[in-house]
Amino acid sequence: MALINEHFLKLQNGYLFSEIAKRVNAFRVTHPKERVISLGIGDVTLPLAPAVCEAMHRAVDELGRRETFRGYGPEQGYPFLVDAIIRHDYASRGVSLDPGEVFVSDGSKSDTGNIGDILRHDNSIGVTDPVYPVYIDSNVMAGRTGFSDGGRWSDVVYIPCTEENGFVPDLPSRRVDILYLCYPNNPTGVSLSRDELKKWVNYALANDVIIMYDAAYEAYICNPEIPHSIYEIKGAKKVAIEFRSFSKTAGFTGVRCGYTVVPKELNGFTLDGRRVSLNELWSRRQATKFNGTSYVTQRGAEAVYSATGREQIGASVDYYMTNARMMRACLQECGLKVYGGEDAPYVWVKTPDGMSSWRFFERLLYEAFIVGTPGVGFGPSGEGYLRFTAFGEREEMLEAMSRLRRYI
Ligand SMILES: *Cc1c(COP(=O)(O)O)cnc(C)c1O
Repeated sequence: MALINEHFLKLQNGYLFSEIAKRVNAFRVTHPKERVISLGIGDVTLPLAPAVCEAMHRAVDELGRRETFRGYGPEQGYPFLVDAIIRHDYASRGVSLDPGEVFVSDGSKSDTGNIGDILRHDNSIGVTDPVYPVYIDSNVMAGRTGFSDGGRWSDVVYIPCTEENGFVPDLPSRRVDILYLCYPNNPTGVSLSRDELKKWVNYALANDVIIMYDAAYEAYICNPEIPHSIYEIKGAKKVAIEFRSFSKTAGFTGVRCGYTVVPKELNGFTLDGRRVSLNELWSRRQATKFNGTSYVTQRGAEAVYSATGREQIGASVDYYMTNARMMRACLQECGLKVYGGEDAPYVWVKTPDGMSSWRFFERLLYEAFIVGTPGVGFGPSGEGYLRFTAFGEREEMLEAMSRLRRYI
């Protein structure tokens, strides 16, 4: 008899987005003539940069010829991509990394979800609230979260990000072993200043905490004072793992490529207090359970760093950030309180008159035919907010904003 991992039974399966789809479908049945505009989904819409497509085409042709065919590649990624990552994403910001510290993967959802493999089941975890659900659900699967009581896990330390603290988290009141930080943040769209990030690195250094730093939206930072990598902060290599993805940076949500940095200075502990290199554990984990990102994909990712590639993906990022600015301005004109959207492609909107997230969601759907994402779906502190994404098409977004203006 095969026993299952019963922790899976505690998960509320895809609750948020399936609930949204259900409600949108119900609206469509009763309002077949109305065109619904979604500002809800966190996916890009612009096509891949021509430089990326050309590089991938060339790579396919190489694989199609006997002389240039390649089979399994290095599990950690091809040196051509690892070197480009180190040079453009880190050395350019004064951070030196060894090639053995960069692990190319098929994206950050897998890496942020899988990283728990190398950590004991009874570490305490802390998350900022609201939060990207993968951090919590992957820890539920590992049995680290305790029991759920109305959307709150008993063994998770929730660090509230609210209007009162400007959505910038305060240090947790309870001890945590592992802390997830995502900046610029999904869903609030708020970023952390250098001093704020320094506060977290120092806290982690003083308390033997490991920070899982998700920098998926790093490319959207506009303010030159905001750090792109946690390793721009002194001492961070001793406490942080950093996750990066080409998904939002370069429209790779369908292509699939990301990477994770596990510094060699970073240690975990055995129960009897011996230090162990997390880099070695992650390397071992990947070599066993992952066989590398496809060659074609890695050539595409390499092209993101070419001069033309950088220019082309920069134009896409600008397009989305212009959407974000226009959306912010319009929502503010409507008298709504909005946060984020300045260094991230998400705008976090406070519901008017203390309405609940779901109530405002319904009002917008039925009265303006717009779909946002109810903030409460990202955690208890998200109640009373809606997330709008700037990843849409400009005209659609503007149409949504003019409908909203009429409704308000
Ligand atoms: C989109 C996103 C990612 C990237 O996920 P991929 O698996 O690389 O596509 C990572 N973290 C957050 C918070 C995201 O929103």
